[in-house]
Amino acid sequence: MTHQRYQIKSACPQCGCSFSQVLSREELKEKYGNAPNMELACGECRQKFQAERKRACPEWDAECRLNPSAAGRNAGHN
Ligand SMILES: [Zn+2]
Repeated sequence: MTHQRYQIKSACPQCGCSFSQVLSREELKEKYGNAPNMELACGECRQKFQAERKRACPEWDAECRLNPSAAGRNAGHN
């Protein structure tokens, strides 16, 4: 099995510091699943914020689109 790593990149809307995290496929799946938005927590001010998956981690977004889970249609409520 390959150990592909995915980098999540975003910026905190509160303090503006950049957010970066590298996760394996399994970790990403577990934490964020196929939801179109990822909930991230700023390492500086601890603010929780949402980042669009396709912008924060295009690679993972592509992966999700290639492998849509039959059961996991996104629960699209705010
Ligand atoms: Zn912050």
